Amino acid sequence: MKLSDVKFSDLELPEQLLKGVTASGFEYLAEVQALSLPTSLSGKDVAVQAQTGSGKTAAFLITIFEKLLRTEPPKGVRGVCPRAIVITPTRELAVQVAKDAEEIVKGGDLPIRILLAYGGVDYQKQREEISQGVDLLVGTPGRLIDYLKQRVYNLRHVEMAVIDEADRMFDMGFVSDIRFLLRRMSPYNERQSMLFSATLSERVMELSYEYMNIPELVEVTPDNLVADKVEQTLYHLGSDEKMSYMLGFLEKEEWTKALVFVNTKRAAIKVRDTLNANGHPTVLLSGDVTQVNRLKVIKRFSSGDVKVLVATDVASRGLHIENISHVINYDVPQDPQDYVHRIGRTARAGKSGKAITLACEDYVFTLPEIEEYIGHSIPVGELNSDYFIDFKKPPRRPRAIKKISGSRGRGPSGRSGDKRAGNSSNKSGERRGGGGSSRRRRGGSNSSGGGNK
Ligand code: AMP
Repeated sequence: MKLSDVKFSDLELPEQLLKGVTASGFEYLAEVQALSLPTSLSGKDVAVQAQTGSGKTAAFLITIFEKLLRTEPPKGVRGVCPRAIVITPTRELAVQVAKDAEEIVKGGDLPIRILLAYGGVDYQKQREEISQGVDLLVGTPGRLIDYLKQRVYNLRHVEMAVIDEADRMFDMGFVSDIRFLLRRMSPYNERQSMLFSATLSERVMELSYEYMNIPELVEVTPDNLVADKVEQTLYHLGSDEKMSYMLGFLEKEEWTKALVFVNTKRAAIKVRDTLNANGHPTVLLSGDVTQVNRLKVIKRFSSGDVKVLVATDVASRGLHIENISHVINYDVPQDPQDYVHRIGRTARAGKSGKAITLACEDYVFTLPEIEEYIGHSIPVGELNSDYFIDFKKPPRRPRAIKKISGSRGRGPSGRSGDKRAGNSSNKSGERRGGGGSSRRRRGGSNSSGGGNK
């Protein structure tokens, strides 16, 4: 488990809760906790990519306990309604979660009643205990549904819901059970939902977008070990040579699926249009793409219907797509962590992959920082003169914004894109200019950096 350098005592947790956490032997936040707790403690939904052993259980338990201690239960609740529910795919995991929860509760003497509901044993006993009231109910789908149908409890006012190991729920055929439970809960915007999964695959993301309230995606930084599986090459090029070289590369090299990263939304549109105009059907994922369209784009790319996806960092965080043979950093990222995230899109599931980075005068300045972060310099590739090819410019896009505003001839057309980037109508639940680093926004020569993701 990777520990961060943030201490639990640095978080403003209720005193009793801190005592319980300390009694469990935790002092420093694990990486997954450091990445998810700031968001989940603020009440927002999170979809977290994390493995067992990462410390994910404490991440959601601390969020639940903090809220239960800080707020009064809702009024007008009829029957037994747990304030929080954790759904796990297996009985063993449910027992482990309840055990971890009990440890914190006992250590801090928290007034929280935790009960289990899982199949195979103690049918009457569990039923009776639950019927006497419960704050946190932990269970497996089958038994939870059984008691729910019998009205032993209901979920109409549940305040927090956790789906643990969501990808295993799919593998074990529980997804319709999960949907059944989610549909019987309080409305998605009246509860906090947290989803944990070893991978945030398309099917998991679909579930989370359907039932959660614009979850923030959290991905534990793949370690450098993952990055090391990727064959990395850096090419130094002028900014006006990059497109020609990339097209030449795509024409002459062997590849199956390419994910092209750019630093701004404006660049994303330009690169997509140019690729489309030059025989490479390409789709786009940026902060302006709505949630519904995101899923369509991801589907087209993962099915192989289109072989190139152009994306910005914010839009692609947590994305899990199989069989990406090449990641192309059309722009050098402005945050070293983004470099690792980007190249980690290839070399998934133990496979190897290739990442090429086109360093130009606009973005090369973050290269030293990236190389320091990954612990080695990126091998510089020799430029192949055959790859510099002539290409077609895409047809000009109509300047729709002019019609709306009625203004004439002021500034480059890209400005309109920037304006839209700045508003809050982002439905895809991405961090605006986020990713946990302010460094990205300080970008020197590229004035379109801030908020233009
Ligand atoms: P999990 O990924 O939730 O299965 O957690 C793996 C193990 O890490 C459990 O035994 C936890 O008790 C332990 N753990 C969780 N968070 C921390 C932490 N911040 N410091 C030390 N151990 C932790």
